[in-house]
Amino acid sequence: MVQHSDFDDPNVREVIVVGGGIAGLSAAIYLGRAQRDTLVIDSGHSMAKWEPVVENYLGFPRGVGGEELLENGRLQAEKHEVRFARDEIKNVAIRDAMFVLKGKKKTYRTKRLLLATGIFHLPPEIPGVKQCLGHSMFFCKDCDGYRVREKRIAIVGANNEAVEYALGMLYYSACVIVATNGDRPRWDKRHARWLEEYEIPVARKRICDVEHRRRKIRALEFGSGERVKIDYLFTTRGDIFHNQLAKKLGAKLDSDGQIKVDQCMRTSVPRLYASGCVTPANCQMIIAAGQGAAAAQAINRDLFEESLATHSLRRFRAAQLDEEKTVPEISKTKRKGRKK
Ligand SMILES: Cc1cc2nc3c(=O)[nH]c(=O)nc-3n(C[C@H](O)[C@H](O)[C@H](O)COP(=O)(O)OP(=O)(O)OC[C@H]3O[C@@H](n4cnc5c(N)ncnc54)[C@H](O)[C@@H]3O)c2cc1C
Repeated sequence: MVQHSDFDDPNVREVIVVGGGIAGLSAAIYLGRAQRDTLVIDSGHSMAKWEPVVENYLGFPRGVGGEELLENGRLQAEKHEVRFARDEIKNVAIRDAMFVLKGKKKTYRTKRLLLATGIFHLPPEIPGVKQCLGHSMFFCKDCDGYRVREKRIAIVGANNEAVEYALGMLYYSACVIVATNGDRPRWDKRHARWLEEYEIPVARKRICDVEHRRRKIRALEFGSGERVKIDYLFTTRGDIFHNQLAKKLGAKLDSDGQIKVDQCMRTSVPRLYASGCVTPANCQMIIAAGQGAAAAQAINRDLFEESLATHSLRRFRAAQLDEEKTVPEISKTKRKGRKK
């Protein structure tokens, strides 16, 4: 059983995970099963919610809803005594070797902190497209390219990344255009040559509307009255990394703002870990889940080593020995058949 009484204040936990999306939940399951007193604090905006049918997660040949995956993950973690708080952490500091997390509702304290706060994909600045998110508007070629095979696809963007997206899409469909949405193209000469070589049309005018019915996109409408029939739209406007807490703690970030981690998800700050899309990993659910598990394993190992170093492994050993008599008695066996 998890030993909670070491932490008298109910807001002080052995491990706190900020972020209850795919990475945070996966970590929570491992931490709960490792008997760690764990709290997951989540503001409830996992990107996984946007995916109605996840087709690339191991073990679901018919796909699984993103929401369902999150719900099941939480149930699985709760089964192992992990606690959950619905809150948003606004600030964090280190005091007396404790991370002090200030949420909108409460203050929390912990010695080990895992940040699994994810990212936010910037939606395109096109009116009327929000309802199509996850249905016919996507951010991720690797997640959704397969499901748009042989359809008409528009890539919205004006930089090298947009061109590479369009080129990558040729594996899935021959009907691909780039729409700059009125922005001046910023791709370099090499990328411009590729557009020519593969005959990818470029629509340069501002998109004034997206025609769609029941979340299915039908066409892009341009201010000039022109119209391009498409079935799916991918956007490459960029991502916002939820790295504010890591920044406040002085953790190293890469040039994009992703939290740098080692193979075990340890950051540059002692006792601080990070996993999922907020790190430089490829932003996929199965990778986020794997990273969450890796972080939990590292936390568990580090806590174990700390307990050995401080002679505090199983702090309740004395009571256990007294009350539960868990040590089998080693009695001397009497030898039979020997006379004095
Ligand atoms: C439309 C769409 C479709 C996608 N489809 C697929 C797909 O088919 N397959 C696939 O593999 N991937 C897909 N993805 C990507 C997938 O959703 C991510 O890879 C995955 O959710 C990343 O997990 P994560 O735990 O890093 O982040 P998230 O799951 O986004 O979780 C982060 C959590 O942290 C919380 N949080 C952030 N900051 C704070 C704070 N300060 N305090 C408290 N809580 C906080 C958020 O509320 C959120 O719940 C899709 C993404 C989108 C947007």
